Amino acid sequence: MTNVRAIAITKKYPFRKDDAGRRICAVCGKRCSLKYCSTECREAAWVECNPAHARYRVWQRDHGVCARCGWATGVIERIIWWFHRWRWQEDTRETEHFLRSALGLGCRTHLWEAHHKVAVADGGGLCSLDGLETLCFRCHAKESGRQRRKRNAAKVAEKGA
Ligand SMILES: [Zn+2]
Ligand SMILES: [Zn+2]
Repeated sequence: MTNVRAIAITKKYPFRKDDAGRRICAVCGKRCSLKYCSTECREAAWVECNPAHARYRVWQRDHGVCARCGWATGVIERIIWWFHRWRWQEDTRETEHFLRSALGLGCRTHLWEAHHKVAVADGGGLCSLDGLETLCFRCHAKESGRQRRKRNAAKVAEKGA
């Protein structure tokens, strides 16, 4: 459990050697010739320490589909991007504006978040892919508000005790 959002991979998983000075995997401690014994171990370390890499893997898994409401934000993002690229044409520019206002997107460019199921502030930081879910920006706002209120209530209760 940690409330750190990211950490240098060299700090969390430095090169390791056993007592005899032979190289072992930085993650699982198995004998190996490289820093990691397998792509699984390297992947685990990267997802845990590097939020950008974790977000990329969450995208590959979910393609922007919201875990709560099922909104396919990845598809919408791509449609918006396409119209945006042709924004020098009046009709495509108008279509982008129309889509944005119809869907309530404002001027957002990213419509989904890789959400920590356990908030980082509650110790959910540096988690594996299982600890992350895709939430659209609407559900993410609701959910982080809920997590924050719960945390504040817990703080108040702690003070009262
Ligand atoms: Zn390993
Ligand atoms: Zn949603």
